[in-house]
Amino acid sequence: MGKKTGHTIYIGLGSNLDDPKAQVLRAVELLRGEKSFTRVTLSPLYHAPAWGVVNQPPFINAAARAHTVLEPEDVLDLLLGIEREMGRKRSAKWGPRCIDLDLLLYDDCIVSTERLIVPHPLLVERAFALKPLLDLSSRLKHPHTGRPLAEYLNVLEADAKRMKKA
Ligand code: AMP
Repeated sequence: MGKKTGHTIYIGLGSNLDDPKAQVLRAVELLRGEKSFTRVTLSPLYHAPAWGVVNQPPFINAAARAHTVLEPEDVLDLLLGIEREMGRKRSAKWGPRCIDLDLLLYDDCIVSTERLIVPHPLLVERAFALKPLLDLSSRLKHPHTGRPLAEYLNVLEADAKRMKKA
């Protein structure tokens, strides 16, 4: 048995500006281009109504799984770097954005620093994050509770029904 050297991470992707589908695909291309990420796998893409601030265009959402030897905060820096490279301007909280990358899960670790909270604190409230995540790995469990993430998605059935494959 080889020693485990890497970590499995899940990233949430979202866009609702400037050809959102192309933006999400571009972000995945950039993730695949990072030498610190290997075996980058993309979920299906979904159309999802805006969440939080609802009077804005609908989103394209997806999730990606990757393997990395980076520490969680280094993963965050890399994601923020991709957002910057894609020209994201930070504006209103939950407002329109050309790309949003969230670190949803890092193995089954719990991280809580000033800059980073993993699992992402809103993961279990957002069907647009849970659904593509579970498409990638249906048996994932919530690191805090040990309960299947699929149970959390069941609670959000009404939101999940509003999502359509893009
Ligand atoms: P936003 O892009 O508006 O969702 O906020 C991004 C900021 O949230 C980043 O600059 C991070 O410091 C912080 N943050 C905290 N936890 C996470 C996470 N799990 N994934 C991404 N950003 C996070």
